[in-house]
Amino acid sequence: MIDWLMLAVVWQGKFLGVDWHTWKVIGWLGNVCFFSRFIVQWYATERRQQVVIPSAFWWLSLSGCLCLLSYALFYQRDSVFIFANAFSWIPYVRNLIIHRRSKKAARVCGVCEFRSPAHANYCAQCGSLLSDPHPQAGVSEGSPADSDGLKERT
Ligand SMILES: [Zn+2]
Repeated sequence: MIDWLMLAVVWQGKFLGVDWHTWKVIGWLGNVCFFSRFIVQWYATERRQQVVIPSAFWWLSLSGCLCLLSYALFYQRDSVFIFANAFSWIPYVRNLIIHRRSKKAARVCGVCEFRSPAHANYCAQCGSLLSDPHPQAGVSEGSPADSDGLKERT
């Protein structure tokens, strides 16, 4: 059984039929990053029961892109492959910056400590009124939260 399994994994002296060297490892690492990001995104979405793109998705995208770009530039030297990965890192970095800014600006609920978006007036978790970070004289507190707890102040 083990011999049969070893023959299936290693044949002609190659693991999984691939002639491994440093650039192959970097290229396959890029593929693993790109593939695993979908698992991370799927897991986050199932967990919250709404479509979520966690920052790990963008980190994996950036890592995968840089690995594949290095592989294309320094090993494959193929213009199609290089172009396919030359610019995709830009939105990944931009999304990571925006993700970081929105996380920093998030409003923390004083009741349940859930982090709601910066524009939220009510906690997305428990519906409690979030304290105003910039109180203004004469502004009313508005109406109670709507069903998703993110009603805008009018
Ligand atoms: Zn809360």
